[in-house]
Amino acid sequence: MRYVSTRGAAPILDFGDTLLAGLADDGGLYVPESWPALATGGRGDYVETAVEVMLPFVDGSITEDDFAAMVADAYTAFDAPDVTPLVELSDGVHLLELFHGPTLAFKDVALQLVGRLFDHELSRRGERVTIVGATSGDTGSAAIEACRDREVVDIVILHPAGRVSDVQRLQMTTVDSVNVHNVAIDGTFDDCQDLVKAMFADVAFRDEVRLSAVNSINWARVMAQIVYYVVAAERLGGRHAPVAFSVPTGNFGNVFAGHVARLAGLAVPQLVVGSNTNDVLTRFFAEGTMGIAEVVPTTSPSMDIQVSSNLERLLFEMNGRDGAMVGAQLDDFRATGEFQLDPVQHAALADGWNGARFDDGAVRACIAAEAEQSGTVLDPHTAVGVLAARACRRDPSIPMVALATAHPAKFPDAVEAATGSRPGLPDRLADLHQRPERLTALPADLAVVEDFVRAHRR
Ligand SMILES: *Cc1c(COP(=O)(O)O)cnc(C)c1O
Repeated sequence: MRYVSTRGAAPILDFGDTLLAGLADDGGLYVPESWPALATGGRGDYVETAVEVMLPFVDGSITEDDFAAMVADAYTAFDAPDVTPLVELSDGVHLLELFHGPTLAFKDVALQLVGRLFDHELSRRGERVTIVGATSGDTGSAAIEACRDREVVDIVILHPAGRVSDVQRLQMTTVDSVNVHNVAIDGTFDDCQDLVKAMFADVAFRDEVRLSAVNSINWARVMAQIVYYVVAAERLGGRHAPVAFSVPTGNFGNVFAGHVARLAGLAVPQLVVGSNTNDVLTRFFAEGTMGIAEVVPTTSPSMDIQVSSNLERLLFEMNGRDGAMVGAQLDDFRATGEFQLDPVQHAALADGWNGARFDDGAVRACIAAEAEQSGTVLDPHTAVGVLAARACRRDPSIPMVALATAHPAKFPDAVEAATGSRPGLPDRLADLHQRPERLTALPADLAVVEDFVRAHRR
């Protein structure tokens, strides 16, 4: 399998190079040169299905035995035997729980595998990297859990001191591993992000410590997310029976994986994109326009995004895989802050896509009503997806699956405000508040942070 850039002007790579490259040289995102067809498939367990669905994407870079071992190992850390359980809500909408991994959010499904893929590919090459990232709370812990104890990876995560919740901080700072380093920056999340950008822009430093990232545009993350769409379809009616999905969306990575499953042959007549008040995607599907808007903080912070990077992968398909056209559309967007799909392209989206947006009031009411009616407690991100599923469902004879992207205990304040009771952490994290923390407080000073990274990488 070979990978091409969505801008069409970067080298064509195999899976291993794509994994380590992240972003393409021309600023584009890597996608497979062609979409492999989904096999007829059986009713294997999660790991068997995962190996079968993903194997064509790593073909030529990783042997089947090595890959199967990594996949099996990645999902042992999940506390549900079937990895992503399906439960039914009050009105027959199915909930696909993606939050049974170590950090209680869906990003674990991809990152647990990506950490192992990095380790495998780097070890094979005799190389090592230092992963540096900034977090406003959630992605940091998922990246740390993915990289902990990996031999050839060191990870340094910056968070704004005092500006992440206790649970979020503890999920990062109580990880006891020699290759994990948490830095509490005296500043805001933007300061942390600026420091990371500055480290990547410092070419001498970047080369010296072999800087790398595991960000949301990495193809391997999308790849790992395709699996649970196939698994859900198999559990509900078999691989060839139609299933619709509703996905609470930020960077468009999760729902794009559903689209890939569809391109590979899964019968998905409808993908519903759920947005909070930051509704750039809802407007894209409804009106065919994309405009820059201010990010508004909501109770679903992991979706507080107004530029959805993975949308570029959909644009590439919509443009008949013409990278120059994608580049022109995005240049237009950057120059004018606005971009309009041509009406034919926009009309073609109406068939398979819907979008709906919900504000915090609607989210809160949904959490309260669902807890009362079915006893299921939703987190605010999941509630956006459930609301969108109900609002956009077209055919009641086709199962509708809403993706549950976080455990309610990850966002206890919003859940308590809606239901009146505070959701408890799962047993394996019950003593989180008693575990010893390891973190270093540093000023928002590039030279100081770079020295810290130099001193702590192995
Ligand atoms: C990251 C995240 C999302 C958004 O996922 P995208 O792939 O960026 O669309 C939704 N919910 C939760 C809980 C998340 O952590």
